Amino acid sequence: MAPALCAICKTERANIKRPKNHARVCKGCFLTLFEEEVHHTIVSSNLFYPGERVAIGASGGKDSTVLASVLKTLNERYNYGLELVLLSIDEGIKGYRDDSLETVKRNAVQYDMPLKIVGYDELYGWTMDQVVETIGKKGNCTYCGVFRRQALDRGAKMLDIKHVVTGHNADDVAETILMNLLRGDMGRLARSTNIVTGDDSSDVKRSKPLKYAYEKEIVMYAYHKKLDYFSTECIYSPEAFRGTARALIKQLERIRPSAILDILRSGEDMARLVPGESASSCGCKGKSKPPAATAAEDDGGIGGCGSNGAASGNEMAAMEKQLRENEAAEELEVDVSKLSLAGRAAESETDGAVPLKTNKNSKPVTRQTLGNCKRCGYMSSQEVCQACMLLEGLNKNRAQIQI
Ligand SMILES: [Zn+2]
Ligand SMILES: [Zn+2]
Repeated sequence: MAPALCAICKTERANIKRPKNHARVCKGCFLTLFEEEVHHTIVSSNLFYPGERVAIGASGGKDSTVLASVLKTLNERYNYGLELVLLSIDEGIKGYRDDSLETVKRNAVQYDMPLKIVGYDELYGWTMDQVVETIGKKGNCTYCGVFRRQALDRGAKMLDIKHVVTGHNADDVAETILMNLLRGDMGRLARSTNIVTGDDSSDVKRSKPLKYAYEKEIVMYAYHKKLDYFSTECIYSPEAFRGTARALIKQLERIRPSAILDILRSGEDMARLVPGESASSCGCKGKSKPPAATAAEDDGGIGGCGSNGAASGNEMAAMEKQLRENEAAEELEVDVSKLSLAGRAAESETDGAVPLKTNKNSKPVTRQTLGNCKRCGYMSSQEVCQACMLLEGLNKNRAQIQI
């Protein structure tokens, strides 16, 4: 059997099976498709304006490293006119964050972007290591998630930047949708489907340009583009519920690759049924205004590290290993078994557009009344913000220990 050819260019050997739709493409076409899909997401949801200064929440991990690389590429290719800055949070986790910050520092040089690092200790007086020492490992991701959200906002304010992009991917968003579905929390479910979170009262907008990108494709992109990223998982375990939702989605994906996008689409459709909420879908036609979202848990990132579910970590590590092995094998001969479906897969969606319904009837957005936290002055819908509430508990604990 002759080696199958790429479904896009029809000239190169198809050596990549896209996790998203099982299309068989060559490396060059895969990289381009991936970039063009992110471009499509950005353009169709009007994410940026020319001249905008944008901070990339950079952890040194695969998601934010791919985000930084793709944004740099697209910014140059399509003249977005963006001024891109890397913004990193130092949670104070020895042996994990120290190393990943070194990666971000290298990325700053590689991508020629300024880098700002903000530490939990300077912002809150606590490192995550100290938090875990006090409360144990259980639930620490909640602290980390709440602290990180504020830290990114505060870092952005220090830089006088009004837009923070994060590396949340389709798997992360599907996970959050599923968790909220299982909790019966439709309000939060609706908000979690949005590409833009943040609220009108806060002047820092948050968005997820990789919202429709599969985690597996992000790993492949990073690998084939030879990006320098940090692949060790956070040493503190994620929230159990998120980990379970993640494992479930991975199982579904095995049987039905479109499951992740299907959950996203269902979430967006359900969001439209929630009074006072409107979901931003890919927005090719319908333009919807981002609804209000205030609390940290509205963001896909509440799991703190978000994409660090144990199941995922192992699977992604296995996938990276597989990619390296495949490459070694391909140098010897064409792996026919991997290519046997090429012809069929070529018919599936390969034109780069994510087939998502548009939002025709977005409803007006209910605004939450927002004030400022009376302790730290941070934007909050309560008198005391979530971070300060958590800190109060921690500080009490510390006081008791000292007595
Ligand atoms: Zn090709
Ligand atoms: Zn506060």
